[in-house]
Amino acid sequence: MDLDAAERKAAVQELGLPGFRADQVSRQWLARLSDDPDEWSDVPQEVRTTIAEVLLPHLLTPMRSISCDAGTTVKTLWQLHDGALVESVLMRYPDRVTMCISSQAGCGMNCPFCATGQAGLTRNLSTAEIVEQVLAGARSLQRGEIEGGPGRVSNVVFMGMGEPLANYRSVVGALRRLTAEPPEGLGMSARGITVSTVGLVPRIRELAGEGLPVTLAVSLHAPDDTLRDTLVPVNTRWKVCEVLDAAWEYADRTHRRVSIEYALIRGINDQRWRAELLGDLLAGHLVHVNLIPLNPTPGSKWTSSDPRDEREFVRALRERSVAVTVRDTRGREIDGACGQLAAAPS
Ligand code: SAH
Repeated sequence: MDLDAAERKAAVQELGLPGFRADQVSRQWLARLSDDPDEWSDVPQEVRTTIAEVLLPHLLTPMRSISCDAGTTVKTLWQLHDGALVESVLMRYPDRVTMCISSQAGCGMNCPFCATGQAGLTRNLSTAEIVEQVLAGARSLQRGEIEGGPGRVSNVVFMGMGEPLANYRSVVGALRRLTAEPPEGLGMSARGITVSTVGLVPRIRELAGEGLPVTLAVSLHAPDDTLRDTLVPVNTRWKVCEVLDAAWEYADRTHRRVSIEYALIRGINDQRWRAELLGDLLAGHLVHVNLIPLNPTPGSKWTSSDPRDEREFVRALRERSVAVTVRDTRGREIDGACGQLAAAPS
């Protein structure tokens, strides 16, 4: 999956095989979701073995899988070939299945309320390591292993470990693989995919020009630079107004509604005046606010807001006609909710 369709064809030809074998295997892999060469009945046996051995190395080893919400939320800890660890979470709802995937092992953005941020960055994931998380979920749904019977992955959110726009090339590669039709890719709708970022402004602008109408989510968490400098340290480089300008440009170019993520932290960013300031900044734009009750992480002195303050916050935004919802906290008990992915193997 690191290779696009043309590169796969070239790689297969380098093995002395006809190029069309690449498309055949890609269809098995992406359309039939088969990672078992024994099932590739349209490909000669010796070709299957060669291609699997040379071009399809084993990328993710499941170390641990835990579920909650009656088996409809499943978090998996994966080991990569070099021992690095990442997590993904599958969430099944009545009308959709969302996979929350990782783009990096660890993260270098250092947001003090996020578990992943505490351990720092181990490394970037490759395009194939990112796509494989989605494929693993898709296969397990197809096999009926998830409560609710056989199904498909409809949505992907880059809200697991890592800062997707700090691993730009691999992430854009993964977006292309996820959205291209088979045999090139998985054929998912870009509308079902969300890339979440701390606000790396030049990369937001670059993403706007890729012709991939995925949803952009910006982790704002504060409407003022003084507070945001401490909650999202990269704010010292790109200020709130610069991040929002880039977000509006993204909405203009893609016609996609931008999502603003705001973790409500008791007594820190949940004051009425901050809600009003946030509402004033966002009013009139193609935007939706996702309020996330803070998931306290180990050792953190912070907790989620008082429900009354949360309601006031919502009200202040609605008064300014800004669309807002409070995010559901699936997977909390299995440390699979927002910001809790720390990949502790214990
Ligand atoms: N690096 C990207 C994606 C990672 S996390 C980003 O920052 O957007 C996805 C979302 O979860 C981000 O909005 C992040 O700020 C939020 N988050 C992190 N830790 C959290 C916590 N403890 N409680 C609630 N949300 C959290």
